Amino acid sequence: MKKPKLSLFIFIDAFGREIFLRHPFFLQGLIRDHKKLDTILGYSSACDPSIISGKLPCEHLMWSSFYYDPKGSPFKWTRALAILPDSIFLRGRVRHYLSRLIKKVLGFTGYFQLYGVPFKYLPLFNYAEKKRIWVPGGLLHGETIFDKLARHGIPHYVHDSAVSDETKLARLTADIESQRIEFAYCSLGKLDALMHAVGTRDPKVTELIHWYDQQVRRLITTAEEHYEEVSWYVFTDHGMHDITEGYDLISDIQETGLRWNEDYVAFYDSTMARFWFLTDEARQKITARLNTHPKGRLLTDDALKHEGIYFADHLYGELIFLINSGIQIVPSFMGIKQIKGMHGYSPQDADSAASICSNRELPESLTKIHQIYHLMHKETGYCD
Ligand SMILES: [Zn+2]
Repeated sequence: MKKPKLSLFIFIDAFGREIFLRHPFFLQGLIRDHKKLDTILGYSSACDPSIISGKLPCEHLMWSSFYYDPKGSPFKWTRALAILPDSIFLRGRVRHYLSRLIKKVLGFTGYFQLYGVPFKYLPLFNYAEKKRIWVPGGLLHGETIFDKLARHGIPHYVHDSAVSDETKLARLTADIESQRIEFAYCSLGKLDALMHAVGTRDPKVTELIHWYDQQVRRLITTAEEHYEEVSWYVFTDHGMHDITEGYDLISDIQETGLRWNEDYVAFYDSTMARFWFLTDEARQKITARLNTHPKGRLLTDDALKHEGIYFADHLYGELIFLINSGIQIVPSFMGIKQIKGMHGYSPQDADSAASICSNRELPESLTKIHQIYHLMHKETGYCD
């Protein structure tokens, strides 16, 4: 016997508006409505918590991953590892296993990667996403859809970030076939990883979107066989830019002659640099250097407020520099090599835009990714 209702929320990382429009075969014939959504300036560390809470980073307090906090840093003990030569730590595999080890030692359950953060700098920083965000109580501040699902005892599926897209889909299919669930949130990561590696125009991208198309169609068919009513939404948090050049911003800052951890501390993301100042001279010199920088711009408080990423205590940086779209900061603390695709640029770019499609009509009020939460909330049928 069929169960009454299933709500499916399928998240395909980096399946932005431009990528969606370039692949019109995707769920063709099944889509009732689709639209562009504005992304949130930042990375998945900012977008994911926003989508599942309906709040902006300035409200749920999760924007970037690493932030300056020498007193509260959980990484002080890693100082001992810094005596080993950099050549060892720069190896991807070594960093991958060390990330796993550190995550385990610290009891982190959230997404954690060391990327290219120099070991000797790690004790200066803290990390925002210590806890898994996909469970009740997962955010630093406020509730998510998972708090709500738990409170109302709604049986649901949520992906395990540690397994492959294939395994996530297989587990979700099993839950649908056994009619165990009424709600599902499944985040798929393969497309994001592929486009970081090959860019947005490689034939492999189209091939993978064909695969996603088949997988989602199969999922919907299975759902319709087991439930009277199926609402489905396929969406993402951001798009992807092709990288046109790499730029060594760290050298620009070093050329000022200012001393690391005496005058300033910085965190270099792939598309942003965030600074904390220990002297006024450093504040003035770095501001002056970046104010007229040909490769990017400083984000004013007004711009940060407009994006919902202004923090009165400057948690994620006292000064934030955003590089021009298509340029990758190389080296950065996120990686030492230039890659083919990146996101985290100006949300106003067409390539930054997110997307959503559904077999339901989408409300006009839905314009930005964090509002996807309201669709999920409505699907649960509860008002609180
Ligand atoms: Zn990505």
